[in-house]
Amino acid sequence: MIFYSTRSKAHTADSTEAVLRGIAPDGGLYTPVDFDQMQIDVGALLNMSATEISATVIGRILNDFTPQEMRGLIDAAYDGKFETEDMTPLEKVGDDFVLELFRGPTSAFKDVALSVLPRLITAAKDKLGVKEEIVILTATSGDTGKAALEGFHDVPGTRIIVFYPDGGVSDVQKAQMVTQAGGNVGVCAVKGNFDDAQTGVKNIFADDQANGWAAQSGARLSSANSINIGRLAPQVAYYFKAYCDLVLRGEIRLGDPVNFVVPTGNFGDILAGEFARRMGLPVAKLVCASNANNVLTDFIKTGVYDRRREFYRTASPSMDILVSSNLERYLFLASGGDFDLVASLMAKLRENGVYTAPEALMNTMREHFSAGCADDARALQAIGRVWDEHGYLMDTHTAVGWAVLEGFKANEDNGWVNVVLSTASPYKFSRDVLSAISGRQPESGFGAMDMLHETTGVPVPERLAELRSKAARFTDVVEKDNMLEYVKDKLKKIG
Ligand SMILES: *Cc1c(COP(=O)(O)O)cnc(C)c1O
Repeated sequence: MIFYSTRSKAHTADSTEAVLRGIAPDGGLYTPVDFDQMQIDVGALLNMSATEISATVIGRILNDFTPQEMRGLIDAAYDGKFETEDMTPLEKVGDDFVLELFRGPTSAFKDVALSVLPRLITAAKDKLGVKEEIVILTATSGDTGKAALEGFHDVPGTRIIVFYPDGGVSDVQKAQMVTQAGGNVGVCAVKGNFDDAQTGVKNIFADDQANGWAAQSGARLSSANSINIGRLAPQVAYYFKAYCDLVLRGEIRLGDPVNFVVPTGNFGDILAGEFARRMGLPVAKLVCASNANNVLTDFIKTGVYDRRREFYRTASPSMDILVSSNLERYLFLASGGDFDLVASLMAKLRENGVYTAPEALMNTMREHFSAGCADDARALQAIGRVWDEHGYLMDTHTAVGWAVLEGFKANEDNGWVNVVLSTASPYKFSRDVLSAISGRQPESGFGAMDMLHETTGVPVPERLAELRSKAARFTDVVEKDNMLEYVKDKLKKIG
């Protein structure tokens, strides 16, 4: 399989190189174009376990790994890490379904991919005979950071530095990161928002000097953000898994299309759904759900992507994003691999903060995507309502999806079964969830965790409960313009 940079013909990679590099040298994102080679017979997955489905789906995308290698890698990656055997359980809530993706070690859906990525990277390194240490730089809106730290800590031949927006993550998210164990990990707050942190990291990757320092220290920079194709591939699998569950339970017949509602930030999770669709999964609509930072809602409706707007800090911080990186991959796919178009739109976004996509591309997009947004008030109401009516407790991100689903059903119901992707445990955002169901909002996130448990009886994930007794290891804070210097300093310490 050839992976193309989205920005120019000059940069292609096979799947191992794409995983190892993370981002193409021209700043583009490695993307496959030939989905004919990646078709999956859904019927053949029906009798498989969750890990077998994952190995099959991921192996079809990253096809430089043999099926045996992929099987071994996936089994080792997921072994004993998830609360349930089927990893991503599908719950019926009223007439609709919630796909619980948060049963992994850090209680957010990012675990599904970040359990696998370190193993993909080390396997790719071995295959390519790369000797350098891999230094992972990651910007996080809260959940990626912890899931990446958990995935990479003490993995030989790797090192990881996570940047998070100072004051932009929940108490629990921060505690998860700054207490991380491991000899090869670093965590640093950035004075700015997630977009600043993400831009800072992207700039470091594109900086010749930074790559030079890394080379001098016997290291190589790479990314664990969803710009890495190795992050995206594992997420494609759970769309197939959820579909199989619906068929096996008699909720749909094999071949019936399904709507997936996806709480969206960087457009990674929903793009994985588009990959699944292109690989042969019967998908009716992918519904892109945004919070008050509704740049994608406007884009899908109007074709104008305009980041020049107020940035809101919301109760769903992992979706507080105005520059959705993976949309670039979608523009590339939907334009039939038009490098020049993508490069020019991305240049406009960088220089002017706005671009307009061609009408034909938007028409293609609207055949398969729908969009909606819900602000905090609507999301929190949804949490309260779903708890009252169905006794089901959802987190603030999932609630954005649920509220958007309600709008979708009211305005453009197509009659097919709906699955809302649930991206985090309610206990990661206890204060807001508690306030949504009871009106109470104690000062501390951990106090809220206890009260939420007392009120609902829903079990607290063990790894979250034990956080409060752990000491913080990391206190660094940098200005957003000093991230490059910070990394340089860290690289020196490796050399
Ligand atoms: C990362 C994240 C999202 C957004 O996913 P994208 O792939 O960035 O669109 C939504 N919810 C939670 C809880 C997350 O951690």
